[in-house]
Amino acid sequence: MPKPYASDWREIMERTDILRLVRDNIRNLEPYSTARDEYRGALGILLDANENPYGEGLNRYPARLLRSQLLERIASLKGFAPEQVFLGNGSDESIDLCYRVFCRPGIDNAVAIAPSYGMYRVCADVNDVAYRAVPLEPDFSLPVDRLLAAADGNSRLLFICSPNNPTGNAFPEADIRALLERFPGMVVLDEAYADFSGQGSLSRLLAEYPRLIVLQTLSKAWGLAGLRIGITLADPRIITLFDRVRYPYNIGTDTLALALRSLDPVRTAAEVATLKAERKMLIDKLKGFRCILHVFPSDANFLLVQTPDPKGLYRHLLADGIIVRDRSTTAGCGPALRLTIGTPEENQKLLQSLQAYERQA
Ligand code: PMP
Repeated sequence: MPKPYASDWREIMERTDILRLVRDNIRNLEPYSTARDEYRGALGILLDANENPYGEGLNRYPARLLRSQLLERIASLKGFAPEQVFLGNGSDESIDLCYRVFCRPGIDNAVAIAPSYGMYRVCADVNDVAYRAVPLEPDFSLPVDRLLAAADGNSRLLFICSPNNPTGNAFPEADIRALLERFPGMVVLDEAYADFSGQGSLSRLLAEYPRLIVLQTLSKAWGLAGLRIGITLADPRIITLFDRVRYPYNIGTDTLALALRSLDPVRTAAEVATLKAERKMLIDKLKGFRCILHVFPSDANFLLVQTPDPKGLYRHLLADGIIVRDRSTTAGCGPALRLTIGTPEENQKLLQSLQAYERQA
């Protein structure tokens, strides 16, 4: 037999490794089988699932066909096979599933950057998993060596949010690759805001690194936050595990149908272009205000800005009916507010309110 090339060895190692990272009880799980999983023929008289027979469709549990139609549509939009895609109740469900699939409560730990999206820690706490938050560098760049130093043999997850919420910056591919090469567990790359970044998605790295899990969502660029649909791209074996652990009907009939009808890449691209132009406009304008000390660069649909009196400015904006996110108590952000980019009209109102704030100061 010819000897495998070095890169083949790495692939073989990777392929065996990811299942070793899965909790034994999850690897051996006998998943719940829904009434209609067992019967795959054409549907006739349905007396199998204790549903109410009267109704227009919502009396029935969500149809497998509808779910697979949405899965196929999203997979093709993303350029992946349906076997590489998991659909959850928002990416929040996938964050929780990462813990439930990989982390033994009370034993394993997760490493993450700080500041970052709050649900990584909440889900760690819910699952009784130690959360090792590693501060970003002062310029918000990735502390690659410190993240690796925080890891040990029980580190099953590393959360990297890029572009990062709330700092707004995307991390370079070289840093993500360095972490994928050296972190001993699964690397979860949360790309909720990647559509707004010039760098775009790094999901193509899945072809090289089975230990990568990419989280995306319909809640941001796709404008469907109310639907609650999150997208996970990963090795098919991880997707299978997520599908076995999730609730049997985690996405309802109406949500699936509405998502299929509402996914519009042309509209999304146009809205993203508008929001990026508005982001640039707001950055330029905000820099001219005395009450804005610093505007951080952003690859996302929000801006982190520092201001001498964040609570005062927050209250002023609120009195004008403008709700922003106070990030002044988040370690690493300084005296900061996070402003989501709105419509051009909403952004003008924000600027007018800031002018009024400066006049009264
Ligand atoms: N990841 C990040 C980085 C987020 O900021 C958010 C929501 N603010 C989410 C995930 C949650 O997304 P979803 O609506 O898909 O649950």
